[in-house]
Amino acid sequence: MANHLYDAIFEPHAASGTTFLHLPDGTTLSHQDFAGTIASLVAALAAIGVKAGDRVAAQVEKSPTALALYAACLHAGAVFLPLNTSYTDQEVAFFIQDCAASVLFCDPARAPQLENVMAQMPTHLVTMAADGTGSWQSARPHALPVKAERTGDDLAAILYTSGTTGRPKGAMLSHDNLLSNAAALVDLWGMTAADTLMHALPVYHSHGLFVACNVSLLAGARMVYFPKFDPDLVISALPDCTVMMGVPTFYTRLLASPAFTPEASRNMRLFISGSAPLLAHTHQAFEDRTGHRILERYGLTETSMNTSNPLNGLRKPGTVGMPLPGVDLRIERTEPGAAGEIQVKGPNVFKGYWGLKEKTADAFTTDGYFRTGDLGDIDADGYVTIVGRSKDLIISGGLNIYPKEIETVIDAQPEVDESAVIGLPDPDFGERVIAIVVETTKGAVDPVALKSVLARSLAKYKLPKEIVTIDNLPRNSMGKVMKKDLRDLIAQKRL
Ligand code: ATP
Repeated sequence: MANHLYDAIFEPHAASGTTFLHLPDGTTLSHQDFAGTIASLVAALAAIGVKAGDRVAAQVEKSPTALALYAACLHAGAVFLPLNTSYTDQEVAFFIQDCAASVLFCDPARAPQLENVMAQMPTHLVTMAADGTGSWQSARPHALPVKAERTGDDLAAILYTSGTTGRPKGAMLSHDNLLSNAAALVDLWGMTAADTLMHALPVYHSHGLFVACNVSLLAGARMVYFPKFDPDLVISALPDCTVMMGVPTFYTRLLASPAFTPEASRNMRLFISGSAPLLAHTHQAFEDRTGHRILERYGLTETSMNTSNPLNGLRKPGTVGMPLPGVDLRIERTEPGAAGEIQVKGPNVFKGYWGLKEKTADAFTTDGYFRTGDLGDIDADGYVTIVGRSKDLIISGGLNIYPKEIETVIDAQPEVDESAVIGLPDPDFGERVIAIVVETTKGAVDPVALKSVLARSLAKYKLPKEIVTIDNLPRNSMGKVMKKDLRDLIAQKRL
């Protein structure tokens, strides 16, 4: 039976004895070994009673078995629902209820509390530990299940958005949303069976699961598969790798280590960054240290990847590159000449938010483009720049202010490591601009001096009314600055 995504990324390797995963303890796992784990999980899902179309949730530590669970769900025709390991019991219960998951795989340590919270729900709870063992292993089916038939339009996964701008929504992704995107990226990034990917990202997010794993599997590449990003471990394993995918904080943390030398990246051919903006000075410092220009790309949970800088050709720092082949991207401007909303159409665009008809309708234009909520621009060469998110746009005295424009000027100052610009309610102006800065170890920020530097390049209405220093910007696990948390934090300081 045909199963669109499974047949393309898992099935072709099932009988291969070549290495698929290099693990932190120095051991390896072949594709055949991995296929054996998938088969055991397929059997377990059948024994639990999972049927095609059922939602299977997993809040488990990153392990080869956790990845095999994704494959097993596809095989069973189920919809995989990976959950961030930092979600609380209440949050997990919300997701389970929201999409009526038939099973939840959880860490054994979390099982007692989750059982309590989910006592009234019909969802089966099974455990899977960081080493892959758990109660799922005791589920035995009567007969070995056959692979479910799935077309490109059937759902493969529901991924809840990070919730950086509001309550997370379950993005429904079809087999072909994922496969078409992986195929475009394999082509664009020149991924082949000769590649070894450094994989230190979480596998509950689109970046680590779909971009990294689907692309590697489709290309037949190997992965150095680490449970988390540990700079020392990553640096020591980098000489065995050819490609790395990371969030910007991975790259700043690598640069912070003196052990990260050009020698460490001698076999690397490509460093890729996404999920949050890569600062131009990180891009420059990385090139100075390694000779490599990081390739930045841009995507969302709802669309997977939309744009990428080129493999061969100019990688422009501060831009997220050009639309992927097949992705129709436009900038919807409300004022001529100003930045506008990035809108996309293509085989990568999701099927809607689970159970949220109105929110889904609102997310699309009448002519079928997905509104990303990101504000951006596109230059004459077709390179896209993101200037912010519409929810972070500050409107002061009726004028639009893009935080990124101010952040870029602040970040260029030698005494500033990084910054975030937010709007706080203001009785006169509606909102007023506040800049939050993290100082470098070299210098202290003098708010008065910084304001006068900003005044040289920014119009008066864009100037921060206040500059606050902070030790670290609050970020989520994908390196995104949590502006909502920052607004709350600064508002609390005012109380
Ligand atoms: P929510 O919609 O619930 O707030 P979220 O949008 O943060 O969650 P994701 O889908 O993980 O969840 O994030 C997508 C967003 O990440 C994009 O809309 C964009 O703002 C940002 N992003 C991704 N890649 C880049 C990049 N290379 N540069 C700048 N921003 C990026």
